Amino acid sequence: MGTPTPSKAVHVTDHFDLIAIGGGSGGIAVASRAARLGARCAVIESDRLGGTCVNRGCVPKKIMWYAAAIAGSLHDARAYGFDLAADGFDWARLRFARDAYLARLNQVYRRNLAQAGVVLIEGAAAFVDPHTLAVGDRRCRAGHIVIATGSRPRTPDVEQAGLGITSDGFFSLPRQPRTVAIAGAGYIAVELAGLLNALGSRVTLLLRHRELLGRFDAMIRETLAEEMRGAGVHIVPGTEIIGVSHDAGGALTLSCSGRQSLTGFDALIWAIGRRANTGRLNLPAAGVRVGADGALPVDDYQNTNIPGIYAVGDVTGRAALTPVAIAAGRHLADRLFGGQPESRLDYDNIPTVIFGHPPVGSVGLSEEEAHVRHGSGVKCYHTRFTPLYHGITGRNAQTAVKLVTVGEEERVVGCHIVGLGADEMLQGFAVAIRLGATKRDFDRTVAIHPTAAEEFVLLG
Ligand code: FAD
Ligand code: NDP
Repeated sequence: MGTPTPSKAVHVTDHFDLIAIGGGSGGIAVASRAARLGARCAVIESDRLGGTCVNRGCVPKKIMWYAAAIAGSLHDARAYGFDLAADGFDWARLRFARDAYLARLNQVYRRNLAQAGVVLIEGAAAFVDPHTLAVGDRRCRAGHIVIATGSRPRTPDVEQAGLGITSDGFFSLPRQPRTVAIAGAGYIAVELAGLLNALGSRVTLLLRHRELLGRFDAMIRETLAEEMRGAGVHIVPGTEIIGVSHDAGGALTLSCSGRQSLTGFDALIWAIGRRANTGRLNLPAAGVRVGADGALPVDDYQNTNIPGIYAVGDVTGRAALTPVAIAAGRHLADRLFGGQPESRLDYDNIPTVIFGHPPVGSVGLSEEEAHVRHGSGVKCYHTRFTPLYHGITGRNAQTAVKLVTVGEEERVVGCHIVGLGADEMLQGFAVAIRLGATKRDFDRTVAIHPTAAEEFVLLG
């Protein structure tokens, strides 16, 4: 079979009302909603459907987090009266079950798209002009094109950085690393350090600055670091990796700032942030502007600088969370095809959970942010306690909760939790804050006893 000449190969042009580039959280959401509203839609995806969240993010991460939580329960079982024979932990078996589940999810996404009437085009999309995309030899045109191409992990520009892996590599590890170094201070560093430690790896977490989760409330930063240290994670602040090498025995050695050297690691994980995926899009052909950080700047309505071209999700560099990408996509579809010209996502008060050990939940302003925004009218309420579950485990684990209020009426503008159950606790409080709840509303709500969440309505 000879190679077809371009003139013979390029013969089909498909026309759509809307095309989403990227079959992840944002792209699927915008196309499915628009199709439901009667638009003829396509999603172009170059990899597995579902994007980062399903294949390399939230879902496999949460399964690993559950495994780590089970390890915690097994550890505590004795205190609760169980005599268990420990038969070890089979990383490969867990990975196999996890990946089989992800493969089923890929199929569910494929079916759902078909049922919604969205055409799936497999391949990488690149702009030909502002309304035309090339996918291999195929050409597709649409009045509305949504860039939802997500992001990928960053690695630093240091010697032999490639000896380390990123979160993508973590999900492909054939074996559990016994000793692992993690570089970073954000979501992924905290989550991977917590779960690997709970599963029995020796974890060293290297922060280039002094603290974890720099953007979060001080209560979260301090309590989380204490709890992680108490659980056995070795946190090394103020240390930047400047080079990586193998020692004679094959272990990794890290050359660090301050002439320090750390050695003996089976694995190094870079968890130092992510970069928008725009490289393959041929954006100059459409005239779409790229920001200094590599992300696509958009206005409040997800418009890029080119009419008819929009961006949602991680590629915009704003609040890189799955529900944000989905909500932004759905609002955009409602605006374009649903007769709701003002529909847009409000990026304030987005609740977020870091699935650490312990988990962290946060919505609204930190105390520091509230002072900057509201000046002196800020009042905070907080408490710290040993959760009942740990009353008999002998683990000295703490839970800390905090409400940030402003003004005479003490409107709650921030709610922060570190501790067991934080992950399932926050959603309801996020609704209350969106509705403008005051401290008095919290006080007038009857507690649910015995829970950790009740502490929020009992704060003095
Ligand atoms: P993506 O889901 O990344 O989808 C983009 C898609 O575009 C990809 O499938 C890619 O293959 C495709 N693509 C790229 N370029 C092209 C092209 N040129 N042509 C065709 N297709 C292309 N968020 C949470 O809310 N909760 C969590 O617990 C959570 N955990 C996470 C854990 C990890 C380890 C990571 C990395 C992320 C996590 N996130 C979590 C963040 C979440 O995964 C992202 O915010 C979300 O997936 C963003 O969706 P998106 O649609 O913007 O991009
Ligand atoms: P984050 O932005 O959360 O954290 C990255 C951190 O790495 C920075 O805050 C920075 O902290 C540190 N860093 C940056 N450069 C370097 C460097 N060269 N050396 C050492 N440390 C460095 O990014 P993640 O990669 O952890 O996660 C990406 C995003 O994905 C998150 O922001 C979140 O939106 C999303 N996500 C959400 C999850 C969830 O909802 N549970 C889970 C995982 C990811 P500092 O400046 O203090 O050094």
